[in-house]
Amino acid sequence: MKIIDMHIHFSNIDTFRKTAAELSKVDYSYKGFEKEFSENNVEMSIGMGVTEQISGGFPDSTSPNPMLLDLADGRLPHNLFMCIGINPARLTGEHKEAELKKIEEQLKRREVVGIKIYAGYYHLHVYDDIYRPIYQLAAKYRCPVVIHSGDTYSDRGLLKYSHPLNVDELAVRFRDVNFIIAHLGDPWVMDCAEIISKNPNAYADISGLIVGDETKVIGESKKRLFVDHIKRALVYADSYEKILFGSDWPLVDLSAYIKFIKHLIPEEFYEDVFYNNSIKLFGLSENK
Ligand SMILES: [Zn+2]
Repeated sequence: MKIIDMHIHFSNIDTFRKTAAELSKVDYSYKGFEKEFSENNVEMSIGMGVTEQISGGFPDSTSPNPMLLDLADGRLPHNLFMCIGINPARLTGEHKEAELKKIEEQLKRREVVGIKIYAGYYHLHVYDDIYRPIYQLAAKYRCPVVIHSGDTYSDRGLLKYSHPLNVDELAVRFRDVNFIIAHLGDPWVMDCAEIISKNPNAYADISGLIVGDETKVIGESKKRLFVDHIKRALVYADSYEKILFGSDWPLVDLSAYIKFIKHLIPEEFYEDVFYNNSIKLFGLSENK
C-alpha cells in the first residue's frame, strides 16, 4: 500500500529530540528519516515548519517567518515537502511587510505545499485579523492551511485557542481556502467531526493521537474506550474523503502508528486516507 505521511516534523526542536530519544525511541535525523520512512513504504511526507531560537523556546515568538525544516541544516530528503510555519508575533509592527514577503517567496518553491498555524501555542484565535494576509496568500497560491488543534505539546499553550470549534468560524469566513484540523482536534474529536461534515473546505488529519514507541502504541490500541473515542468521531463524520493520514513523527514509532490507524479506518477507505486525499489536497503528483 502506498502511503503519504502528511504530518511529520523535521526541525531542530528540543522537545522533539527529547521525545524521540526517551519516549518513541526514534532516530530523529536525516538518516533516521530515510531509513524509517522507506522501510514503511512512505512515498512522500510533509514536514510542518517550526523553529526555535533558543533550545526549549518553542513556541518561540522571536522566530523569523516563515519557520522551515532545519533538522539537517536545511537539507531536505527529495520526497519530503513542507508546510511553512507562521509566527504571528512577527506579523505586526516593524517586521510585518518584510516577513510577509518572505512567506510569499517560499510559497513559490516546489517543496512548499501548505502553511501551518500553531493555534494554542501562540495565544491568538485562528480567525484573528493578524492571520488575514496569510489566508489571502493561501487562497492566491491555492495551498491548504494546517491548523494545530486539540491538546498542546507544551504546558505554555492555551487550549481555548486550539479548540477545533474555532476552525468553523475560519472555514466560513474563508471559503476559498482549505483548512486541515490537525490531530482530529483530540480530545475534542466529535467537535472536529461536526466541523468537517458541515464545512466543504474543512478536513482533518489523524496524526499524533498516540505519542511513544511500539509497546506504547500497542498498549493504547488495546484500550477499548480509547479506540472507541476516536472511532465514534470517524463514524459520525462519515467523511473518509476528508481524513488524511499523518503520524506526527518523531513523536511516535511510524510502523506501529500505521498499524494503529489501519485498525481505525474501514479497509475500503485505506487508499483515500493513506494516499489519495493528500495527493488531491496538497496538489502532489507522483513525479513531484
Ligand atoms: Zn505535529
